[in-house]
Amino acid sequence: MSNRTFTMIKPDATSKGYTGAILDQIIKAGYSVKAMKWTKLTIEQAGLFYDIHRERPFFGDLVKFMSSGPIVAAILEKENAVEDFRTLIGATNPANAAEGTIRKNFAASIGENAVHGSDSDENAQIEGDFFFSKLERF
Ligand code: GDP
Repeated sequence: MSNRTFTMIKPDATSKGYTGAILDQIIKAGYSVKAMKWTKLTIEQAGLFYDIHRERPFFGDLVKFMSSGPIVAAILEKENAVEDFRTLIGATNPANAAEGTIRKNFAASIGENAVHGSDSDENAQIEGDFFFSKLERF
């Protein structure tokens, strides 16, 4: 079991001014920040990050959305980080997300759903490496 996961606060949430409130909820849930940056993806970079979804019908909308504005990328640490973070953010579609989850609190739709959370230890490692060098994580 890894103690680290990777997250992004997505462009819908940063543009609505939810960044601070989302980080507050994450930290209150027991996560500590090991790396963090405010950045903006190009459409090509968003496509690489979500390469696994390239054949899905929503891929075009997804990469356009993910490159439409700034994001916050972060590596987070806590015991059982990946699984607990998926519980904290809630279902992909905020309409199905449990009460009190980040997506229930802050997301508007299945596409524009406020936050990303890695779905496995392996992907947490790959996704963290996508954004951060060794010098940028502590
Ligand atoms: P996640 O692991 O909960 O983020 O969900 P997935 O891995 O299934 O999908 C990745 C991301 O693609 C989601 O977080 C959404 O931003 C987006 N997405 C998933 N399904 C749809 C969809 O049906 N329509 C649109 N527009 N975007 C979607």
